[in-house]
Order: sequence, then structure tokens, then C-alpha cells
Amino acid sequence: MAGERWVSEVNAGWGLTIKVRRQLCDIQTPFQHLEIFETVNLGRLLMLDGIVQLTSFDEFAYHEMMANVPFYACSHVPERALVIGGGDGGVLRELGRHRELKSLEICEIDASVIEASRKFLPETACGYDDPRVKIHVGDGSAFIKAHPDTYDLIIVDSTDPGGPGEPLFGEPFYRDMKAALRPGGVIATQAESYYLLPEIAARVVRFAKNIFQYSGFAQINVPTYPTGLIGCCVGSDGGDVREPREVPDPELQKVLHYYSPEIHRGAFLLPRFASQLFEGEGK
Ligand code: SAM
Repeated sequence: MAGERWVSEVNAGWGLTIKVRRQLCDIQTPFQHLEIFETVNLGRLLMLDGIVQLTSFDEFAYHEMMANVPFYACSHVPERALVIGGGDGGVLRELGRHRELKSLEICEIDASVIEASRKFLPETACGYDDPRVKIHVGDGSAFIKAHPDTYDLIIVDSTDPGGPGEPLFGEPFYRDMKAALRPGGVIATQAESYYLLPEIAARVVRFAKNIFQYSGFAQINVPTYPTGLIGCCVGSDGGDVREPREVPDPELQKVLHYYSPEIHRGAFLLPRFASQLFEGEGK
């Protein structure tokens, strides 16, 4: 319609189009094209290189799951967490709800994402207000190599492969993450959609399966990602990642809108074709 403005993510032959009111930020950083919009129905929208990273409308689903599935999959109470990527602060915000965590570190390659999120996405960037948070600006794949035997949780909230996120989708990175875990620690990685990018989803699940004793692909409903879902690949040597260690305390339950122990277990139950894809016998 004349006078209306829509922005589209076009990815792997699919399109997702969102009606926007105005653009708040449009910069070319050394790593990527960073745009933030105020949408008509979905609050704020963050795009990197034309790919939707989050909207205010449904970011809680992704961030609650990326933080809480590994937190409760860990067989001991975790104390030290590292987020790789995640510059918008959403995973930090969710991890910050856990008083048990003594340290919360983030390694984000692009300082502009942190700055722009602080300015335009305060609802996720409030994750940085936690005094436990320590920020490292740099490539997560190099950072992890320098920190053996350090973390109970490593959460990779990355962009898709192809840009700066490329090394985060290779087997060496998964091996380095294992070395960076303390005994019984857990990794969780953005593992794409098995509808949109099945080869990538299957590849990271294979790495996790080869490297960890326990692993799985948890699916998350996120309407503003193409195909409406995204995966979280989880791995650990500490115990079955599909079974949460404990139930969130009643205070925490009041602020969770997506995660529950039932959703934790259920997220690993996949349609037959997806299970077969991850067993290496996909259609
Ligand atoms: N939280 C979001 C969501 O809901 O999907 C989006 C992800 S977040 C904004 C992805 C971040 O990963 C980006 O800010 C990007 O700069 C960062 N990133 C990409 N490659 C990286 C790397 N090699 N090391 C560290 N951070 C990286």
C-alpha cells in the first residue's frame, strides 16, 4: 500500500515481511549491516545483514530457552556462564535471573551491536545492568581457546554462518567449547531451523553427538524467524540434557513466559522427519 513501509528477511528462498513505522538505526559496522526498526505490531526489530535477530514481540521465547535449557540441563548448580554473541543482552537478562551464577561473561565480536542495543533495545540490553556481567569484545572462537576448564555453561547466541558467525559452526569450535567446560558443564548453541537450514542443523547436532556423551536438539517457537522455529543444540558429559535438574523457584516461575520443566522435556521431542534427519537418515 502506498505510504506503508515493510522490511523483509529473504533467506534460503523464503521471505518474512514485517510492517515498520520508522528506522531507528542504520549502520555498517566492521562486521555487518546493523538495522533497528520500530515496527507497527511487533515492537522493536533488530536485523543484521538483513536477517531478523529479534523482535520485542517474541524475543522472550528464544532468550528464555537459550538460557534456561542449559541452566537446568546442567547436572550441578552452575556458577560460571559465558555467552558468545548475544550482543543484544537478551540471554544475559535471562541468565541474570539466577542468583546462583557467580559470574556472567559475554564475548561479542561487534561492539556496535552492544552500543545500539543499549540505546534502542533497553528491554534486552538491561541484561548488561547486572554487576556480575563482564564484557569481552572479540571473536568467540578465539576467546574460547584461551579459557580451558573455566565455564559451567557456554551459550552460543550467534548469527547464521556466512558472516562473522562462520567459525562458530565448525567442529573445531565444538571441541574447543568442550575443553572450556568444567566437569559436567553444558553447551547450548543456536542451531537453526530444521525446515529452513536442515544441513546446518544436522551438522551441529552431529558435532554435539560426536563430542559429548549426552546431546539433543531442542526446538523453540519463534514466529518472527522464518519457518517459525529455531533450534538449540545442547551437549554435556554431565547427564541427560533432556531432563531438567530442578524446577524453577516460584518467584522465577512468575516471570517466565515460555520456559517450564515440561517445555524443557517437550522441546526435545521432534517430528519423525527431524529425528531421522538428526539420526543421519533424513528425507
Ligand atoms: N539474540 C538474538 C536472537 O534472538 O536470535 C540474536 C543473536 S545476536 C544479536 C548474534 C550476535 O552474534 C551478533 O551480535 C553478532 O555480532 C555475534 N557474533 C557473530 N559472530 C561472532 C563471533 N565469531 N564471535 C562473537 N560474536 C559473534
